[in-house]
Amino acid sequence: MKVITAPSAGFCWGVERAIDIARKNTGEDRRVYTDGPLIHNRQMMEQLEGEGIREVGDYQSQSPLELENQTGDVMVVRAHGVSPERRTYLKNLGMTFKDATCPDVGIIAGKVKLHARKGYQVVIFGDPKHPEVIGILGYATSGGHVVSNPEDIAALPDLGEEVCMVSQSTMFVDEFQKLASLLVQRFPKAVIINTICGATRERQDDIYTLINQGVEAIVVVGGRHSANTIKLASLVEKNGLPAFHVESPEELDVSCLKQYAKIGLTAGASTPGYLIDAVREKLEAE
Ligand code: SF4
Repeated sequence: MKVITAPSAGFCWGVERAIDIARKNTGEDRRVYTDGPLIHNRQMMEQLEGEGIREVGDYQSQSPLELENQTGDVMVVRAHGVSPERRTYLKNLGMTFKDATCPDVGIIAGKVKLHARKGYQVVIFGDPKHPEVIGILGYATSGGHVVSNPEDIAALPDLGEEVCMVSQSTMFVDEFQKLASLLVQRFPKAVIINTICGATRERQDDIYTLINQGVEAIVVVGGRHSANTIKLASLVEKNGLPAFHVESPEELDVSCLKQYAKIGLTAGASTPGYLIDAVREKLEAE
């Protein structure tokens, strides 16, 4: 079986940066905590736990934390960012505070904050349950609304003239554009800011490259909660190819793939390289 690996498969710069920040703060005399998963990859979080980086709190970074504070311990903000209220809460825990929010998410939060200050109603294209969206929504102090589909746009109340639209960083560009044009039909003066990050666009573009290279199916490696991994698998299926989303090589049932002569391989932005390599080796052994 021939396997073609997408050049962009694996860690994006925001994830690498978050892991670096957490690792640099480990030490024998202190504990390092992350408020919810630092990144959306279970295997990587388990590896980090072994290095002394402990995930506390919940998936959405909303529940109160019960920690025995110890001077010198470190609290690291996840790559997805948190709301301003949560940031204040974490800063007041009495530990050293380190911010590993991806700068691309920080840019979205900054744009929302700026427009909210001017009185804009903010519309965010994304998953209302995703921690990144929950965090960004916290900056929409003059009014925030999350939309996922055309029905949500139709259901928006009258937002007046000052409306601004941004996107969760990991969405599809074509869907954002479609919803943005529907929003403009309802609110002609709406300011549209495409905040889908470069890493997401690159990984989505590579799916089209793999398809153009003649792959018959694509294996996508990444966490079940990883928004960009889920989107990659769904993009493969949208283009009429079978997608096999696995978290690890153990989940890969190669008997289902034997019928294909050429397979594409990609991975979400939070998937460590060793998992991609292990999946590729398993495929190539067939
Ligand atoms: S996927 Fe984009 S926004 Fe998310 S961590 Fe990576 S670079 Fe940052």
